[in-house]
Amino acid sequence: MLNIILFGPPGSGKGTQAEKIRNKYKLDHISTGDLFRHELKNNTALGKKVKNYLDLGQLVPDEITIKMLVNKVKSFDKSNGFLLDGFPRNIAQANALDEVLAEMGEEVSLLIALDVDEEEIVKRILNRSKTSGRSDDNDEAIIRERYNIYMDYTKPVCKYYLKKNKSKPINGIGDIEEIFCKISCEIEKLKEEKE
Ligand code: AMP
Repeated sequence: MLNIILFGPPGSGKGTQAEKIRNKYKLDHISTGDLFRHELKNNTALGKKVKNYLDLGQLVPDEITIKMLVNKVKSFDKSNGFLLDGFPRNIAQANALDEVLAEMGEEVSLLIALDVDEEEIVKRILNRSKTSGRSDDNDEAIIRERYNIYMDYTKPVCKYYLKKNKSKPINGIGDIEEIFCKISCEIEKLKEEKE
């Protein structure tokens, strides 16, 4: 299985690239942000629990997020593999992911980290807010808070997988197709190694 983490700050293009990767490599795509927004939209008990965190751009507590993710990962049919976007967002989540995969006889194959600087992120998300309808997208202070949380808690996850020789940084600024081409190149290398 190809088990890939698509990594990067909010607004770095993970959603756009995830769709292209999923279509090309037929991976199960899991976005924890999308899962939470789905719960919110349907006004479920979980949606009500996480609403404030999402509105303020704060991380949802690990006990909620990890439980949701673990259930999802366990439901994978173990075919081509999965593409995670928005998870893990801290070291505790990375440990939990490694643990559940080990129980399944699997592991993370690769983390692809999209590199985009703060000012570009703010510009992109404010622009996205015109169509996304996300309350966390249209307030510059919240966008900067999300970026700071990424730098403080999430970025160390990249180092965690770097130590395992599994992190690949890719410049996330530029043409969407060119970025996708670089990502595909890393995935092809991985497939060759696995064959
Ligand atoms: P995203 O769509 O990935 O930008 O996520 C939107 C929001 O969902 C985040 O700002 C958090 O409030 C929440 N969220 C998504 N994934 C996670 C995660 N792995 N851990 C904690 N909170 C998360």
